[in-house]
Amino acid sequence: MSYQVAIDGPAGAGKSTIAKIVAAKKSFIYVDTGAMYRAMAVYMVRNNVDPSNEDEVSARAEKADISLEYVDGIQHVFLNGEDVTGQLRTEETGNMASVVSKYTAVRTRLVDIQKNIASKTNVVMDGRDIGTVVLPDADVKVYLTASSAVRAKRRYDELVAKGEKPDINKIEEDIIARDRQDMTREISPLKKADDAVEIDSSYMTIEEVADKILSLCGEK
Ligand code: C5P
Repeated sequence: MSYQVAIDGPAGAGKSTIAKIVAAKKSFIYVDTGAMYRAMAVYMVRNNVDPSNEDEVSARAEKADISLEYVDGIQHVFLNGEDVTGQLRTEETGNMASVVSKYTAVRTRLVDIQKNIASKTNVVMDGRDIGTVVLPDADVKVYLTASSAVRAKRRYDELVAKGEKPDINKIEEDIIARDRQDMTREISPLKKADDAVEIDSSYMTIEEVADKILSLCGEK
């Protein structure tokens, strides 16, 4: 049986940063499921699919072959054979991913791939529905949150470090809109699994959060 660590939470709570640290420490694979929904979003944009048209999105989703490969421990996402990893982290793609991820056809396809990976390998997997739907029997489940103001400030700092001049209020508005979309959708909404440990990272350092999760995994 593989060992499974599930980390869910809203956009910008620090899931991927923390998940990478925990995975490296445990020598587990880190599976960023958001990147798979983002790859699906890239595919829809490239094919001029109207995201509000479920039939069109569902038909197209069947033609999107999304797979993961690991190079030196880093996840690469392939879309129909093309490595699209470098194209996934824009705000536009994140917002589009949030729109198309509400459809059953999209979720079923990606959840199958995620379950399959976790059945064979020890994983730290992050997303929105990992503890509730993808890995309901995970060994450790964490629901990682932070206030929208703190999450917006973290994202703002990241963009400033990249030389951009973002509007922090717009970032916070987008975060709140995405939370609402992810938490209120009908299928697999973002919510804390009953048996997940909730960690509010607003006033914790990255190390403190990682240590807390490692201690849940039985590390001193
Ligand atoms: O985590 P990330 O911001 O990359 O996710 C992008 C979007 O993909 C989320 O806003 C959410 O709508 C969707 N997603 C999901 N289920 C997951 C991971 C991501 O619905 N397991």
